[in-house]
Amino acid sequence: MSVAPWLQRQRTSLLAQRGHAWLLHGPSGLGQYELALELARAWLCERADRPQEQGACGACASCHAIDVRAHADLCVLLPEVEMLALGWPLDEKAQAEIDDKKRKPSREIRVEAMRAAVEFGQRTSARGRGKAVLVFPAERMNTISANALLKTLEEPPGDVRFVLATGAAHLLLPTIRSRCMGHQMAWPQPEEASQWLQAQEGVAAADVPVLLAATGGRPEEALRMHAAGRSARAWSALPQALARGDMGAVGGLAPAELIDAMQKLCHDLLRTGQGAAPRFFAAADLPSPARLETLLQWSRKLQDSARIAEHPLNAGLMLESLVALAKTALNSRPP
Ligand SMILES: [Zn+2]
Repeated sequence: MSVAPWLQRQRTSLLAQRGHAWLLHGPSGLGQYELALELARAWLCERADRPQEQGACGACASCHAIDVRAHADLCVLLPEVEMLALGWPLDEKAQAEIDDKKRKPSREIRVEAMRAAVEFGQRTSARGRGKAVLVFPAERMNTISANALLKTLEEPPGDVRFVLATGAAHLLLPTIRSRCMGHQMAWPQPEEASQWLQAQEGVAAADVPVLLAATGGRPEEALRMHAAGRSARAWSALPQALARGDMGAVGGLAPAELIDAMQKLCHDLLRTGQGAAPRFFAAADLPSPARLETLLQWSRKLQDSARIAEHPLNAGLMLESLVALAKTALNSRPP
């Protein structure tokens, strides 16, 4: 994936400043991870004749080592599910535990991984260009991990730099926030976002407005949606399918994804009920107006469900009850 122009601009401005620890924050899905990785790549890049603000060269041994996820001076701290999704290797012990089905990949940044990162910070740089630690999403550190990191941030070993990235900075320890230089992620211009998305492999021009609307104007997230096989057509068809209680329309979605889509739909119906334009769906794809009280009830139930969505006792049952709730809400009619 080519680095989007709005991320390139942010990279240039961050690399022109000094700072051994950055916190990239702002609404989720604005390319926090991509920008964090770009910073780490530039810090470690070995093309000495290149001004660092231009970012990594993409061709040296260091850049190559990062591309193949095997750079000795880069420590990436992500929840294991994210590590696996983004192609980063787990340490041997963690991988063995998961292979032996002793446990599932974690959704938090594990304390063991954080301790390894702290040790990494104290080691000598292997390639001689310093070291980098990338933490994403930083709010997935628990208190123990966060405190271990905090000690390192307070007394950083000489040649290690940190980049923390988050879509939920309010969930971080204030002491962590205050130890980092903050950078608020910038929104891309709608025109720029749509041009970039259209230029990505396999994205049909007609799908671009639907994917961008579905993600509230977040092109990186729109591309991930596309890459995960969530089509623009399925998104447009979702409201009517839910109104019919059609389970086929939600096949393959994780409960958290379905709740997110339903929250967007509920939000849009509340907006159109007030005469405003929908934000995430096209007006033509929405079912008939629903009863306000029922929508508000639905919205509260979705919030409750969101809290347990990552650890449902039975994902299939959860999807069924979510679809049943949606059907009831969408078929309520204003008095
Ligand atoms: Zn390079």
